Amino acid sequence: MRTLFALLAGAFFMSNALAVDPPASASPAKAAASAPKNATPPKSAGPASAAASATSAASAPTVSPAVLKGREEIAEVDLSAKIAARLAALRAQQAERAAQAAQAKKVAKRKAATTAPAAVMHHHGTHWSYEGEFGPRNWGKINPEWVKCSTGTRQSPIDIRDGMKVDLEQINFDYRPSGFNVTDNGHTIQVGISGGNFITIMGRTYELMQFHFHRPSEERINGRGFEMVAHLVHKDSEGKLAVVAVLIERGKPQSLIQTIWNNLPLEKNETNSPPTVLDMNDLLPTRRDYFTYMGSLTTPPCNEGVLWMVMKEPVQASGAQLALFSRLYPMNARPIQANSGRVIKESN
Ligand SMILES: [Zn+2]
Repeated sequence: MRTLFALLAGAFFMSNALAVDPPASASPAKAAASAPKNATPPKSAGPASAAASATSAASAPTVSPAVLKGREEIAEVDLSAKIAARLAALRAQQAERAAQAAQAKKVAKRKAATTAPAAVMHHHGTHWSYEGEFGPRNWGKINPEWVKCSTGTRQSPIDIRDGMKVDLEQINFDYRPSGFNVTDNGHTIQVGISGGNFITIMGRTYELMQFHFHRPSEERINGRGFEMVAHLVHKDSEGKLAVVAVLIERGKPQSLIQTIWNNLPLEKNETNSPPTVLDMNDLLPTRRDYFTYMGSLTTPPCNEGVLWMVMKEPVQASGAQLALFSRLYPMNARPIQANSGRVIKESN
């Protein structure tokens, strides 16, 4: 019995250690040290779909390219083993949760048979995830306040296609260097921004509250996914939300993303407030054309009435920067939701 307990404690410790494994800023250096002379060159920097990201590390074209990119690829190969380990731990946890949930369901069913039959799914849970029992298909059943996740007809993300090309008003970005903090909230890396950053669109001014990341991108454009996306969440004085989505593709290192990665907290649900500033202008693409449509939050409670603006031009982040996020969150994207006849407009 005691031995079993020790084993369980050991397993728990291991899974925790995996979960909070600090984002090693050392990996690029380590990769450089171990990089073979004929380092794997990167794939062409063409359309980087989610599928491509899964396989790019394995491909080996012939020509030797920029050394830096080669190192990033190696860093990624280096990390893939760790990611696999983390995934295995996650799957084990999930299987355990599924078993517990199945047991709880049985009990609830028995209870329901003797009392009100409709009460079975009337839970008030707060735990959700991107896979399995607590995954997107069941979000609406976990908590009555999350019912829009299943019944809503204005949900996000969507596959953006057949936009109406019109003379869209430019988004007026009024961003300035600002204090920030970084949290790993268990679903994503989220950056809180101190006040003073605004956008104005269609006569409304919204203030930037926070931004966070998804991998792969939640939104697609004509079916094409991207490596990652940053969601910049703004709110106006009436509490209405406007989200600017900045798509991220594989390419050059991104300085703002590096600053955030440098300041990741070591533990989940801890907030790190570094004594430096972020300039959100650094994350915006040069071209400011965008798609716009009405949608929802892409996480519970899936509230609707959110104005979405998806920038057409992606920004770039390096392979190592993408790999680092994927160690923490290999997959944190809600599946595509039905468009349901919504109008999508796009800059001409
Ligand atoms: Zn988001």
